[in-house]
Amino acid sequence: LAKRDYYEVLGVDRGAGMDEIKRTYRDLALKYHPDRNPSPDAEDRFKEINEAYQVLSDPEARSRYDRFGHGAPGGFDITDFGFPSIDDIFGNLFDDFFGRPRGRRRTGVHRGADIRVDLRISLMSAARGCEKTLEVARHQLCSECSGTGGRKGSSPVTCPACGGHGQMRYQQGFFSVTRTCSQCGGRGTVIREPCPKCRGTGLEEVIRKLNVKIPPGVDSGSTLRLRGEGEPGERGAPPGDLHVVIFVEDHPLFQRDGSELILEMPVSYLQAALGHEIEVPTLEETVRMKIPAGTQTGKVFRLKGKGMPSLDGYHRGDLHVLVSVEMPTRLNREQKELLKKLSKITPADSLPQIKSFHDKVKKHFRK
Ligand SMILES: [Zn+2]
Ligand SMILES: [Zn+2]
Repeated sequence: LAKRDYYEVLGVDRGAGMDEIKRTYRDLALKYHPDRNPSPDAEDRFKEINEAYQVLSDPEARSRYDRFGHGAPGGFDITDFGFPSIDDIFGNLFDDFFGRPRGRRRTGVHRGADIRVDLRISLMSAARGCEKTLEVARHQLCSECSGTGGRKGSSPVTCPACGGHGQMRYQQGFFSVTRTCSQCGGRGTVIREPCPKCRGTGLEEVIRKLNVKIPPGVDSGSTLRLRGEGEPGERGAPPGDLHVVIFVEDHPLFQRDGSELILEMPVSYLQAALGHEIEVPTLEETVRMKIPAGTQTGKVFRLKGKGMPSLDGYHRGDLHVLVSVEMPTRLNREQKELLKKLSKITPADSLPQIKSFHDKVKKHFRK
């Protein structure tokens, strides 16, 4: 199969600038990424787009392609990146993935640290979703010295201890030992007059208010990641992320198990014996539910779709109503009389569980 022209693949003019090529690539990569595009030829399209982009985004390769086309002597060095995650295509890593000359890596620059914040919410908030304002303490470059750590107008001077090497050599017997200079921390320069605001650290702590949207269906341990809201990176490196870890508080009525809810519901012995329409609380409202005559403790009734929503929004769990039959602990004279009458006209073996139990006991002692 003949290879398509790379400019045609990306749909750009032969004179297109680097910005346009990048932008077009990103749009196409997002459109044909197999995670998003279920059509069977999306994967091949995605690979074709990646290949075209790799050649056209490299000035040397591009000029050879312009002159010789696909058959250029030496060919083209195409790397199969697989499928970079959509996050990476969208986010900061875009440049790291594709925009960097191959074989060279940025070294010594560290991304900022991630921050973790715990957030307690009620079961109702977890069911409905909610919006919360977080106050997050984090660092930013000192506003007084712009992160240099030195007093305004002063500049760092060569470290007198190491003479700017950042390292110190010691003679220990026959050995020569090299250590990072403790005075400048290896930077080779020291600050004579520290910034009064940050005392030379170059950083200041700020409280940032952040609005976070909590989707319906979160559970304890669910984590939301806010990209770039962590600590600042070193020397221009990207900042870390903020991880919001959710804790859902216990509810006095409902116990939760994933998207299922369990409600333990006491029912009077009379209602259980005669059958009754009881009022059952759910998350949103009270619903009426029939319990049949002869309902026992431990019986579970299921109210479909009255549980918790799932995170994907397509599903709702059930509410399981666990019945416990409650006996009266205090009876008045009239109630006692009536129950005694009832007892007289009720044969001892009229309850199947009790009858079966007695049969077993009889058998047991016959042996
Ligand atoms: Zn400062
Ligand atoms: Zn030093």
